[in-house]
Amino acid sequence: MFQPALQDGHNRRVSYVRISVTDRCNLRCRYCSSPAFNSHFREEILSYEEIVRLVRVLVTMGIDKVRLTGGEPLTRRHLDTLVTQIAAIDGIRDISLTTNGVLLEELAPTLKAAGLKRINISLDTLRRDRFCEITGRDYFARVQAGIRHAFKAGFDPVKLNVVVMRGVNDDEIVDFARLTLEYPLHIRFIEYMPIGSTSDWSGRKMVTGAEVLSLISADLGRLEAVAAAPGSPARLYRLDRALGRIGVIAAMSEHFCASCNRIRVTADGRLRPCLLSDREFDLKGLLRRGAGDDEIAALVRRAVAGKSVAHAMSCNAERKCARVMATIGG
Ligand code: SAM
Repeated sequence: MFQPALQDGHNRRVSYVRISVTDRCNLRCRYCSSPAFNSHFREEILSYEEIVRLVRVLVTMGIDKVRLTGGEPLTRRHLDTLVTQIAAIDGIRDISLTTNGVLLEELAPTLKAAGLKRINISLDTLRRDRFCEITGRDYFARVQAGIRHAFKAGFDPVKLNVVVMRGVNDDEIVDFARLTLEYPLHIRFIEYMPIGSTSDWSGRKMVTGAEVLSLISADLGRLEAVAAAPGSPARLYRLDRALGRIGVIAAMSEHFCASCNRIRVTADGRLRPCLLSDREFDLKGLLRRGAGDDEIAALVRRAVAGKSVAHAMSCNAERKCARVMATIGG
């Protein structure tokens, strides 16, 4: 049964859900996880059946776009079967994945065949030694192979997400941007956000989108603004004669909450209406108590109705979200 479209208390239509399919990860990025963090046991995270049921309910409310994330989504077995089942739901227009790319060499073709439309790969450095330092694992070559195989499998564009952290990788901004001259990659520079109570985030570590753009144009020339996809949080640019695009996602310095169209579901089944707010709603409890679709839809509607007009995090404050990113899903 179709329901009225999902809308929050500030007249924003919600049409996009990001679902964390696991909080396990094969990397140990210093800023994303925490040494104290233990991933949930298998039975504590949503099963594929529960995820598919939830997506079916969300589709009746006007959600037509799904992104699978984690933790590292490719560490969850048979992810392609989940992709196939979600892609087959009538009303789903787009299904995408955020991954660290470590397992992509092997899995890219299967995911493409399963109906996955788009891929974002997270990579914060182009140097192997630094990759080991940031992620705690020597998998740089595997990520490079993953990127190549994403292209080979036919994903176009392939987007690389770079979280820019002062004193960690801000000296590589221009190197990343230069890649767009040679390859049809979209490089998206993301502002470091105050997530995870034990993370080392501070306003000083954050490099703003404006700073990223001025560093790039000082070295590589004029950046021409180009239109981003509707609802995208990125501002997009192109260097002269570039094959790829450069994007900045300035969630902190120039937040785009006014056009927010998304909700998130954590690996342990909680609905999180705003990435940067710890206000959550227990969907898993409902699903496992045998609630009907109407009851699930009512909870989603209540959660979305109370979505705040803008996130309350600031570049200068030291306040952070309690959850680590690995459990929320980026
Ligand atoms: N494992 C997958 C990956 O690496 O893409 C998906 C999950 S990961 C949590 C998703 C994205 O969140 C990654 O690009 C990661 O760099 C980003 N991320 C983690 N912590 C962040 C933070 N504090 N600020 C901004 N982005 C963050």
